[in-house]
Amino acid sequence: MKTTFWPYRGRQASLATRHGKERAVALPMRLELGLALAVPPGLDTDALGTFCGEVAREGSPEAVCLRKARLGMDATGLALGVANEGSFGPHPTVPFIAADIETMAFIDDERGLVVTETLVSERTNHGHREARSVDDLITWLPSTGFPSHALIVRPKSSAPGGPAEKGIVSIEQLAAAIEQMAGLSPDAVAWVQTDMRAHLNPTRMAVIQQLAFRLARRVASSCPACAAPGWGRIATTKGLPCELCDEPTSMIRFEVFGCGVCAHREDRPRSDLRQKALPQYCPACNP
Ligand SMILES: [Zn+2]
Ligand SMILES: [Zn+2]
Repeated sequence: MKTTFWPYRGRQASLATRHGKERAVALPMRLELGLALAVPPGLDTDALGTFCGEVAREGSPEAVCLRKARLGMDATGLALGVANEGSFGPHPTVPFIAADIETMAFIDDERGLVVTETLVSERTNHGHREARSVDDLITWLPSTGFPSHALIVRPKSSAPGGPAEKGIVSIEQLAAAIEQMAGLSPDAVAWVQTDMRAHLNPTRMAVIQQLAFRLARRVASSCPACAAPGWGRIATTKGLPCELCDEPTSMIRFEVFGCGVCAHREDRPRSDLRQKALPQYCPACNP
């Protein structure tokens, strides 16, 4: 499809970012779509919410992502917009591991098209520790990727918007920040966390690039009914039959592909072509 379908070749889309995400997103958009990016300078994407909690994010990551894309389109006057939003925390399906959940949106106001893709990656350094000094962090630091990945230090007891030292990339800076922020906390403890802003987090930047490829390929797929860009998976249907008793289970039976412009939908078999579910997912065999 890619070689014959280039609806955005030679066009320009805004990319709303303050954190250098064009380093991850420009290549996929150029290779898959022939699309160039314009980054509006001085855009205050932090007004939509920050990782550090100074500004609470309102709505789902997808909603924030779409607002961010609109912000970039308004600033540049372009009809095409791209934006990304990440969130971090426990993995939604694998217990006890951290996940980076990234959402990326593409908006085309000329076609009335909105496409979003989400990637859940266990490739993340997301984490935090308490510390009275750098010595408390010796076993944890290697897992953060520090100093190629930055850290944030704040007093352990502090409200959102309180004092914080961000973008820390040297051990001297880290030691000084822990001393200062512990001194501001009634319990004399500092709170150290990974800085998840993309330009200070190469692991996250790589995940964003992986997602940008996925989104660009999705946009480069055309609807079999109306030929609009953005054809791809929009939902899943559960109920794959159990291999023992044939009852519907909680495993996915179909992937529903859809168009962002017309109403065309198609049920597709699972990408792994599995036709029967394991009994462990069966409400009859494993109640
Ligand atoms: Zn069963
Ligand atoms: Zn269509």
